[in-house]
Amino acid sequence: MKTTIYYFTGTGNSLKIAKDLEEKLEECELIPIAKVWEDDDLASSSEKVGFIFPLYYAGLPKIVYDFLSKIELGKSNYFFAVITNAGDINNTPLQQIETILNAKSKTLSAGFFIMMPNNYIIGYDVHSEARQKEFFEEANKKIESIHKTVETNEKNLGKDIFEKRRIKSEKFNKGFRDNVYRYDKSFYAEDTCTSCGICVKVCPVNNITLEEGIPQWEHKCQQCLACINFCPEKCIQFGDKTLKTQRYHHPEITVKDIINQKN
Ligand code: SF4
Ligand code: SF4
Repeated sequence: MKTTIYYFTGTGNSLKIAKDLEEKLEECELIPIAKVWEDDDLASSSEKVGFIFPLYYAGLPKIVYDFLSKIELGKSNYFFAVITNAGDINNTPLQQIETILNAKSKTLSAGFFIMMPNNYIIGYDVHSEARQKEFFEEANKKIESIHKTVETNEKNLGKDIFEKRRIKSEKFNKGFRDNVYRYDKSFYAEDTCTSCGICVKVCPVNNITLEEGIPQWEHKCQQCLACINFCPEKCIQFGDKTLKTQRYHHPEITVKDIINQKN
């Protein structure tokens, strides 16, 4: 395979970008990080390797950080990253990837940010449908230019991107990664829960179980917010932060698509 794209997604924004890019690139396969990150013999044999994932706490999601640290990339020579976000753009995730790749004697060739609708409903409410449409239109244009860059092995990252490090962002992200497993303590299901099990199925790291039909969170959370956003009854809450917020998932990404990332 010429290009392999490894992706991580919670509510489908990154998966949609990954699918669109897969369609455009010649000989490209998608591999979900949630499916492979615990494998012992994790290795890529493709010439080009892409990483597509959301920005979490100014940097890499923990699962992506752990996956990148572990994967063997000896046979690959061109690396690119596409980071979806809702507006908080900084170079820290690119610097984190570069540091991990440098330790494997590799370097990041290209990096891109794509703004997508907010799904972090424990912090902010979702964008209006009109604004979401604007994000999707801009994303489509961006995918065209990413495709051209990757197809021709172009580099778009100068040294300056890696030299000016934002120490505060790195510390902020490390604090998140060190503690995220227990960030699920504020989740609970309201009485309107029907015990349908969708939250259990969409969780990419199997962090939810049903005990006598009631969801329990098992403290190995990645904070992707798939559970709270995909619950059909909208009955999962995160403390009092989500009582008034709406729910979001990418309109073209289904529950089945999210479940498939771990199967
Ligand atoms: S998805 Fe919602 S309704 Fe279904 S089991 Fe989970 S909390 Fe209950
Ligand atoms: S428990 Fe919810 S927020 Fe945590 S990893 Fe699973 S789906 Fe994502």
